[in-house]
Amino acid sequence: MKKVLCLFAFLLLITGCNKQENKVKTIVQKNNQMKIAINYPITKEKRLDQKIQKDVKMRYQNFLEQQKEFVAIAKDAEFNIDYTYDIIDQRYMMVVLKTFSNSNLLSSPMNDLDTYVFDKKKNKFLTLSDVISPTENKKVISMILNKLKKQYPDCLLIDRVKKLLNQFTKIHFTFDEEQFYFYFEPYEISAGYFDIMMISIPIENLGLTIDINEGKVEKEWKKIETTTRVIDPNQKSVALTFDDGPSVYTNELLNILKKYDASGTFFVIGNKVEIYSDTMRRMVQEGNEIGNHSYNHKWLTKVSEQEFLDQINQTQQVIKKVTGFTPRLLRPTYGAMNQSLRKRSELKIVMWDVDTRDWESHDIDHILKKTIQNTKDGSIILMHDTKKQTITILERLLKELKQDDYQFVTVSELDKIKQLQKYEK
Ligand code: ZN
Repeated sequence: MKKVLCLFAFLLLITGCNKQENKVKTIVQKNNQMKIAINYPITKEKRLDQKIQKDVKMRYQNFLEQQKEFVAIAKDAEFNIDYTYDIIDQRYMMVVLKTFSNSNLLSSPMNDLDTYVFDKKKNKFLTLSDVISPTENKKVISMILNKLKKQYPDCLLIDRVKKLLNQFTKIHFTFDEEQFYFYFEPYEISAGYFDIMMISIPIENLGLTIDINEGKVEKEWKKIETTTRVIDPNQKSVALTFDDGPSVYTNELLNILKKYDASGTFFVIGNKVEIYSDTMRRMVQEGNEIGNHSYNHKWLTKVSEQEFLDQINQTQQVIKKVTGFTPRLLRPTYGAMNQSLRKRSELKIVMWDVDTRDWESHDIDHILKKTIQNTKDGSIILMHDTKKQTITILERLLKELKQDDYQFVTVSELDKIKQLQKYEK
């Protein structure tokens, strides 16, 4: 009996771990003083994850410290951590974290950088000295210098670049099957330029001490067969919308939607689309709609026109690539709107009239009561699929609204219903 029990406990432990699997950690918060959006990957490599989490925490605490000092005059501050994550040759894990902080007190926003190259097989972090032969160092340094001069001719402080490049092991880098990428924090080596600087050099020009199989294999995405949905234009309708995903909880929400013959609209963050490609494809397959919620949850009313376009277009492209679906809707980050955002956006901007505030409170009964009170025919309800409790909220909400004879439609379906009703009147 004891043995069986042990085995049972062990199985629970395994499934328990799987359930908590976190592919990308997303934290989005806002108040009157500041807007926070943090995204970073969970790689399942213990040492790598610990280091990433430690650095993220440090960056965030530094920002909060800075804010605390000037709390009386601080407003409109923004803190954003964005990431890229790749595994090369099933062995080398690359993570780049870019931290943007604008506390409104400094003369300009800060862009900080953390890079991690982790060798899974050896369970160790790699520096540039680990991957480039010592005899090649000088050659590599002069290649980097030349490329920097070419790419950033107007703002480079050459003496500082030279000094930095001589600290070979400290140079930020990543690589893929074809190129090496070198990154620089702008304050270290430039004047009047604020973005992270990056250059690339083809692998064959560098003397490497490691073997990387050449040629990147682009994943092929098969066309998705979508389900046809039947909607009654005369029945009461609500559109359920989910922001900031996808996440590990999104599949559970899709199960519930399916159970109640409901469709939702998912306003996703672009930098998570490829990591959650299966979830994204399932959304489309089961008749849900996908909307654009920027690439890394930057505060869209604060960015330049070029950055706005990048945020939107990069997200459109990756959604189209993975799902075949082209979004026609945009939900502004932090719900922040202004005239120039309206003018810049070619996508239809979708807000909401019922806010569950599921990110703020843990009182599920209260959230449900308020939400049901405020919901009426034609409502758009705001939820977040990055919160575990949203699973419970959705299940109970659908049950209650279904009893009240609601059907659950996507935002575009709701638009069509409204148009039809206008036409009939
Ligand atoms: Zn959001």
